[in-house]
Amino acid sequence: MAKDCLFCQIVAGEVPSDIVYQDDKVVAFKDINPVAPVHILIIPRKHISDLTEIGPEDTNLIGHIHSVAIKIAKEKGLADRGFRLVNNCKKDGGQVIYHLHFHLLGGRQLTALG
Ligand code: 5GP
Ligand code: ZN
Repeated sequence: MAKDCLFCQIVAGEVPSDIVYQDDKVVAFKDINPVAPVHILIIPRKHISDLTEIGPEDTNLIGHIHSVAIKIAKEKGLADRGFRLVNNCKKDGGQVIYHLHFHLLGGRQLTALG
């Protein structure tokens, strides 16, 4: 657990969150400031600061995060209509919280990126 990391504190249960799925590798919870009817953050339990910090040992983890995203998307009725899975990486990518996370967005027509 990284000191002063908000998402590590969520993983540890020290900061409350609305968890929709968890297992031994990942936690998925509702974004506190949703920008779509479904806006869920999927994060590894392990602290990884951003996407550039994943190593060869993390490739299964990244695949697992995608599997979890699909499972949640199906449960939320998004599998047929579609959804978006987004990672914001570092400053230009718009990353604010430096604990790797993927945004699962859906439930409305999403606009172009940029
Ligand atoms: P980023 O810009 O780093 O990709 O996204 C960070 C996300 O974390 C934002 O969408 C923001 O609303 C969300 N967030 C920030 N603080 C909290 C919190 O305390 N709880 C939850 N559930 N989400 C948070
Ligand atoms: Zn962390």
